[in-house]
Amino acid sequence: MSGESSIYEIEFPRREQYASLAESIDTDIAIIGGGLTGVSAALHLAENGFSAVVLEAGKLGTGGSGRNGGHVCQGWPNDFHHIQRQLSEQDAQIAWDSGMAAIDLVKDRVKKYKIDCDLTFGYVDAAYHRRQMAGLDEMQREWEARGYEGFTRLNDRTALAAHIDTNAYVGGLFDSKSGHMQPLKYLHGLAAAAKSQGAVIFENTPITKVDVHASGGHKHLHTKNGQQVRAKILLLCGNAYLADVGLPIMKSRLAQVTSSVLATKPLSTNMAKQLLPTGAAVADCNAALNYYRIDAKGRMIFGGRASYTNVNFGGVESDLRRRMVDIFPLLKDIEKDEVWSGKIGITVNRIPQFGRTPDNIYFVQGFSGHGVALTGQAGVMLADAVIGDQTRFDIMSSLSHMPFPGGPLRTPALALGMAYYKLRDRLKI
Ligand SMILES: Cc1cc2nc3c(=O)[nH]c(=O)nc-3n(C[C@H](O)[C@H](O)[C@H](O)COP(=O)(O)OP(=O)(O)OC[C@H]3O[C@@H](n4cnc5c(N)ncnc54)[C@H](O)[C@@H]3O)c2cc1C
Repeated sequence: MSGESSIYEIEFPRREQYASLAESIDTDIAIIGGGLTGVSAALHLAENGFSAVVLEAGKLGTGGSGRNGGHVCQGWPNDFHHIQRQLSEQDAQIAWDSGMAAIDLVKDRVKKYKIDCDLTFGYVDAAYHRRQMAGLDEMQREWEARGYEGFTRLNDRTALAAHIDTNAYVGGLFDSKSGHMQPLKYLHGLAAAAKSQGAVIFENTPITKVDVHASGGHKHLHTKNGQQVRAKILLLCGNAYLADVGLPIMKSRLAQVTSSVLATKPLSTNMAKQLLPTGAAVADCNAALNYYRIDAKGRMIFGGRASYTNVNFGGVESDLRRRMVDIFPLLKDIEKDEVWSGKIGITVNRIPQFGRTPDNIYFVQGFSGHGVALTGQAGVMLADAVIGDQTRFDIMSSLSHMPFPGGPLRTPALALGMAYYKLRDRLKI
């Protein structure tokens, strides 16, 4: 279901290609996964004089990093009190600061490595009804109590109209510090930076098996074509795409959700200005949310339609179109450019799961649809733990993560649970 090409791949055909692994190699640090997490970790390691090898099953960005909505969101995916209540105040502050550093990291890297990725600021969380508005108020209070200064409350439809031309919502929260970008260009910018600093990247190199050798804890990674990568340290950065090489503690704590995106043909400049006058990206507050933005080429990039069964029953395009037209009736006859889907990795509490084994396998997963900025930061935290500064990594690893109920049958159980929340969304209660 995630095989279709995203608009980002199609509009970026001349991106750098990396060779596949042709012979067995030895390395200190191997990274499975050429998405934003793995490439960010490789870049940070290389900047600090550590050489790492990134192994990507397909092309860079084959996973969520090359097929997402491009929303660049502040902080951790769930309300911060879910993290705070498990930590001392001092550790909670470190966790808070780590989440809040994610967008600064994006900005710094874009500037330092001159990454052309259409990074734009301005974001609206939009509420369909009063309960959702109360949720946004709670979030504003929580964040501002920690010193956050990016928010402006959009009290009603009139205030909202400065950013969105629709009657769909009752109000919202504008965030000047979140925004959007072309994620695949950003990923390739990071990869080029990592390569320039000494990291080695292989594409089209699926790892099918990992053996940990008793003597010295060396990891032997086996490729589909028979080569081996022998590494002292292994970072697992495959998120929802990792499948068989994931550790049991990872598999039981991650569920996959399919989300889909529709890109329209470019809108006229007037139409784009009318629909989203400030160019902000928007996400609504529904459990199965809609998220959208107008990109640098003037296309509406509209995402949503979370599937918790991950079964494609068809109608993806018509469903996304219906959702888009509910918000913007003016787009009724707009032609589509592309439609694609991808897998989002979620944890029970929607907070990313960090961890490591005694034999130096480090991992992070479960960004819950909030990974474009946060993965970069998570990659840095993984790399720092390897380099020797484990403070932030250890704090995040100390958070407990429940396994999904239902074991291997968790997908139907999750779908059933979500059906309740989707119904609530539809009834606006
Ligand atoms: C449709 C969609 C829309 C989204 N929209 C947004 C958004 O607007 N904003 C936001 O913040 N987040 C969004 N997300 C989430 C975000 O894209 C992810 O959280 C993020 O990209 C995860 O990055 P990652 O590097 O951890 O994993 P991925 O980008 O998924 O990369 C993992 C990589 O590992 C590779 N891999 C896995 N197993 C192996 C193996 N055995 N051998 C070799 N390689 C392997 C895969 O091929 C893949 O390329 C969206 C996700 C999807 C799917």
